[in-house]
Amino acid sequence: MEDCIFCKIVEGKIPSEKVYEDDEVLAFKDINPAAPIHILVIPKKHISMLTDLKESDELLIGKIYTTINKIAKEQGFEEQGFRVIANCGKDSGQEVMHIHFHILGGKKLGAKIVG
Ligand code: 5GP
Ligand code: ZN
Repeated sequence: MEDCIFCKIVEGKIPSEKVYEDDEVLAFKDINPAAPIHILVIPKKHISMLTDLKESDELLIGKIYTTINKIAKEQGFEEQGFRVIANCGKDSGQEVMHIHFHILGGKKLGAKIVG
């Protein structure tokens, strides 16, 4: 997908600090971290928004969550816990139109998930 920052990261055209990669999924550190741990997990395939997901993407989305578990284990924050957030569309403030799952942690997160 042209002009998609995250597709360019997948293609290596924009550098990123990768924490996990396989054929379908890539995880890298957020450039502007909102918490001590802030990792973005994305499918390599371009999907603009959560509302574009199709039934044929169900396995892929399941894999993203098991990948998140793998990352939490590998990076050593499984025990302390973390939060996963995925924004969709205008009201959520989604900025990058390639679906992504924020892993946030490394400190006690506020109880409020809606700011
Ligand atoms: P959104 O608001 O769309 O859910 O989140 C987009 C996230 O992508 C933001 O947290 C932002 O800091 C991050 N981001 C935007 N551009 C880049 C980039 O070029 N590299 C990395 N690593 N993160 C980015
Ligand atoms: Zn993309």
